[in-house]
Amino acid sequence: MKKIFILLLCFVTMKKITAQPDFSTYPVYKGTDLGLSYTKTASLFRIWSPTAIAAELILYKDGSNAGPLKTVQLSKGLNGTWFTKLSGDWKGTFYTFRVNINSAWSNELPDPYAKAVGVNGKRAMIINLKETNPVGWAADKSPAFSTSNKATDAVIYELHVRDASIDENSGIKNKGKFLGLTETGTKSKEGLSTGLDHIKTLGVTHIHLLPFFDYNSVDESQPGKQQYNWGYDPLNFNAPEGSYSTDPYNGATRINELKKLVATFHKNGLRVVMDVVYNHVADAKSSNFNQLVPGYYFRHRKDGSFSDATACGNETASELPMMRKFILESVLYWVKEYHIDGFRFDLMGVHDIETMNIISDELHKIKPDILLYGEGWTAGASPLPDSTRALKKNAAKLRNIAVFSDDIRDGIKGSVFEIKDRGFASSKKGMEESVKFGIVAASNHPQVDLSKVNYSKEAYSKAPWNVIIYSECHDNNTLWDKLSLSCPEASNEDITKMQELSLAIVLTSQGIPFLHAGTELLRNKKGVENSYNSGDSINKINWSWKSKNITTFNLVQQLIKMRKSHPAFRMTTNQLMRKNISFSEDSPAGVIAYAINGAAVKDSWKKIFVVFNGNAESKEISLPKGKWNIAIDTNKDVKISSGIISLQKYSAAVLYQ
Ligand code: CA
Repeated sequence: MKKIFILLLCFVTMKKITAQPDFSTYPVYKGTDLGLSYTKTASLFRIWSPTAIAAELILYKDGSNAGPLKTVQLSKGLNGTWFTKLSGDWKGTFYTFRVNINSAWSNELPDPYAKAVGVNGKRAMIINLKETNPVGWAADKSPAFSTSNKATDAVIYELHVRDASIDENSGIKNKGKFLGLTETGTKSKEGLSTGLDHIKTLGVTHIHLLPFFDYNSVDESQPGKQQYNWGYDPLNFNAPEGSYSTDPYNGATRINELKKLVATFHKNGLRVVMDVVYNHVADAKSSNFNQLVPGYYFRHRKDGSFSDATACGNETASELPMMRKFILESVLYWVKEYHIDGFRFDLMGVHDIETMNIISDELHKIKPDILLYGEGWTAGASPLPDSTRALKKNAAKLRNIAVFSDDIRDGIKGSVFEIKDRGFASSKKGMEESVKFGIVAASNHPQVDLSKVNYSKEAYSKAPWNVIIYSECHDNNTLWDKLSLSCPEASNEDITKMQELSLAIVLTSQGIPFLHAGTELLRNKKGVENSYNSGDSINKINWSWKSKNITTFNLVQQLIKMRKSHPAFRMTTNQLMRKNISFSEDSPAGVIAYAINGAAVKDSWKKIFVVFNGNAESKEISLPKGKWNIAIDTNKDVKISSGIISLQKYSAAVLYQ
């Protein structure tokens, strides 16, 4: 997630603000009925607003313009809650709340727990969730992604709902919508599969979708207008985004269509990871959190202003019991109601470790093979001490949650913050240890010199499942753009080789590999570094790339297939990696070569030899003894003779015995 609302920060800090109340004295509500509890005979509403002196529920005929049908005074309930029960069937009615604090009424808003909302999320909607289930939903099951469903068996594909289908050449009818990803048999004009079929044939196991909860920045009432956003600006955490549905006015439609997407993915052997952004809200002051309980859900500086570890104007306070409860109940809801298979936590370093571990424990209880990972960093300083937050350096304190490795990401291609910087795959010398550190999933290995690793000078992983290995994601330049911008002299042919080498490193490393959608098609964003609102022309997957770059697609498909068939690339403990991965000590500069003892981890390949040449010229590397077979040869011109392998510039090879 990138900086979005920097101006807001300036605005907030300029204001004179007094210190916040002592939130630790606020009562904690333990019940699980916050928000709406609907049946055909009654609707029960409950909100938490401990400092309010009065609270109201306002009912409406629609989600946008209609005047109020009725206003209902809420009764004071247990532990700071306010509630009311309306008899009868209220399905189809919309609602908001407002509270009176210090004799002033708050804005009218849906409550934070709202599960269905109308257009632009301004009003919540009373629906019967059971009626949103697509046909066969009760039998929907998450597919197995390996024989044991271990996190390291996953291959993640990070995709934005709209980018997948919006291209005119996608062959997909429901362009930009949840339903677009449920279409099968779709083809580009060149006759190659697109959308879901494309992803399925690539062989990945998990589709990680960029935010699809209801976010703020796209006007859902203007579907014809050119609008675009990644969606890292949460509005209603428990409702799906309306612009991805065919009818944003009906809160049930978006739920039904998202469930259809999940069910279709599951039927096609793919699991679904949800990108969640509990670290901040689109606008703190006007948010439902802050209107109902001023200040509570956010961290503050000493002067009382919102602190801002997210660079989006605010950061939430996961360490406070009602915020922790909110996040926990929200993720449990997405798993139970939508059958979500994993979460990617945006700026996870903002959240406290204890909250993350509670979330992980509770999620694993209901879905033992759920996949959890996050960004182990923040975008600014937080008042909560580093030692208590889910930062990369604290990864080993996280239970069954992985962190992204920026060490290997930038080791491969160069710093994402310095456009001209190069990495191992683009012939920069001295990056070998950063890449080797990634190959062993950020663990301690006797042959990795941590003092030479670009960022982390200490190993931080507890096990291979603790680390996400990647070379690009939605943030920053795409790999293609980064390589092109940092190597202006290189031909497209050479950039292609560098990208293929990069992807070979990612897909052979230990840990959990992660691919940015379209990287297998040499995706570019025309050099745009931060495309969060750059529109379709920059962000879309251009399906004509596929016929042009089919060789790269085929290579990535082959790498994924190899990884999935060979446990040697998916070791489960740091000890196994230390014992069974040995790096060649006599490799030339700019070359990494290592042997894996496949037999020791029950691989059908008894010995494996992996070689990467990041140099701008060919290199010769001595091979361990024995007769070697070639499994992967990114350049199709590897030569082996008398114990020497000759590798062309920017290329990778995997050999086996
Ligand atoms: Ca929205």
